[in-house]
Amino acid sequence: MEIMGLFQLLPRLVVFDLDYTLWPFYCECRSKREMPRLYPDAKGILYALKDKGVKMAIASRSPTPDIANTFLDKLGIKSMFVAQEIFSSHTHKTDHFQRIHRRTNIPYTEMLFFDDEDRNIDPVSNMGVTSILVGNGVNLGALRQGLSKFSQNQEKNKQGRRNRSKNSSSSGTEEQ
Ligand SMILES: [Mg+2]
Repeated sequence: MEIMGLFQLLPRLVVFDLDYTLWPFYCECRSKREMPRLYPDAKGILYALKDKGVKMAIASRSPTPDIANTFLDKLGIKSMFVAQEIFSSHTHKTDHFQRIHRRTNIPYTEMLFFDDEDRNIDPVSNMGVTSILVGNGVNLGALRQGLSKFSQNQEKNKQGRRNRSKNSSSSGTEEQ
């Protein structure tokens, strides 16, 4: 909560991968009967985001959505996510994000994404989503890094818009 107070600009939506981002295992290797656990900071982060009115979603390429869903249910966090896209795909999550965007109407530039795989991070950040590679699951350090990179990207976007409008107004005067 304190970390979030440091940032004036919060994303409208935070999207999480599941395996090795929210929890420390591949759920396809687990049984539905087990009781899963999250990374130590994960639950606190989810509740703090919820408290701040930030929406949350899941983008996972797990081949076992039934196990993933059972675990989300058992952990009591399933209802926290406005969108849950869990399906295997070769597009490295760009189709997951298209679906999330269609469902939520939130622009990609208003999203922050956490994942433990480079091959997902690059294509998704090319869509305009601020994307953070996590090394040891989502934790307070990754959250701080994500919020700070999100603010920087927002500044850059604003600057880009200002420059574009300056250019278009100067070209307007040239035409006269
Ligand atoms: Mg993963």
